[in-house]
Amino acid sequence: MEKNIFYEELLNLPSVEILDIKIDTNIITIECQVKQIGAICPNCGETIFTVNQYYHRTIRDLNMGIRHVHLLVKVRQFYCKSCNRYFTETLDFADLNKEFTHRQSDYMFCLARKQCYTEVAAIVDVSAKTIERIVLDICRKTIDIPERYRQVKRLGIDEHSHRKGKKDYLCILTDLDRGIIIDILPNRKKETLIAHFKQLGIDFCNQITDVSCDYWDAYITTSKLCFPNAKIILDRFHVTKLLNNVLDAFRKELRKADRDNTNYKRLKWILYKQYHALSDQQLDDLDAAFKDSPMLKKIYHIREKFHHILDNTDTVENAIIAINNWVEELAKKEVTLFDGFVKTLQNTKEYIANYVENYLSNAVTEGLNNLIRSVRRTAFGMSNFENLKLRVLAISS
Ligand SMILES: [Zn+2]
Repeated sequence: MEKNIFYEELLNLPSVEILDIKIDTNIITIECQVKQIGAICPNCGETIFTVNQYYHRTIRDLNMGIRHVHLLVKVRQFYCKSCNRYFTETLDFADLNKEFTHRQSDYMFCLARKQCYTEVAAIVDVSAKTIERIVLDICRKTIDIPERYRQVKRLGIDEHSHRKGKKDYLCILTDLDRGIIIDILPNRKKETLIAHFKQLGIDFCNQITDVSCDYWDAYITTSKLCFPNAKIILDRFHVTKLLNNVLDAFRKELRKADRDNTNYKRLKWILYKQYHALSDQQLDDLDAAFKDSPMLKKIYHIREKFHHILDNTDTVENAIIAINNWVEELAKKEVTLFDGFVKTLQNTKEYIANYVENYLSNAVTEGLNNLIRSVRRTAFGMSNFENLKLRVLAISS
């Protein structure tokens, strides 16, 4: 008996008492039963003491040392006279009909955060399919999607390329204040987005105060249509990317025209950076290139001026004025390289200017893209959209 008390301490499941223990080479089998004498009838709430029959359930628990632990639980079926019903007692450490204890499931779930299902399966010694099932069960239980939506005020809309090289995008919705993914949609089509937001209801649509997104037209159209109180903000990263593309295209031309000029080497990432962020060495490299190409210097400073507007303007109105001035100056300088960008400004100026009011950006979403990528790696070969979504949402909360 004393031995059993020792094992009960070790087992640390206070609701059960140990009846017997069998230790084999690979498995420790612990026969146990619930200590509580009666059980509550789920129908009438009365405590019932009449046991109709016993049966055994085998439930896998956390290993002890290198041995698997199997709990052989002697489960009671009760009979409630007032309801004329049979019911089986519930266990506080394992769900009905489940072959693992809660803590064993949690352990497998934790392992599967960073490792793929097959690796976890090998560690725990079950099939990869089982790991997948456990992981998805826990995901379903822990994520409360409606609750996630209820709190959102500032929404980020972004995409994640599902399969590389293909135009196959998932749409990622984020709560920019909490920095979490709220939901994932199977594509970024306008119809999908509109239908999705409409079915979330008018209250949700009205509570959105800001939407941060990129240039994808469906995002802007949808936001205008669905969120009457929201300011649309074009994500700064995507705006300056267009400007950087101009610089990079010009750099490539320079390289092509003058292969031997070493000043144009290693320039790509330096050009992308803002002036104030450059190291002394990078400033020297940049100056050397500017000496050889005054045009490069010119367009670099034009880009910097645009950054300056985003960094140093305090109201949306002033930002729009500054952007208009920037366009006018550009026309005077007779630089045509930014013509494409200037054209996009016609429809997006306001959304770019909205940025200066509270510097809202999707940077958080960009970070979450890595999270999705890592989930895809760990679930490889077994994931479909629904699985991916569940796992990402469970981790991002
Ligand atoms: Zn009853």
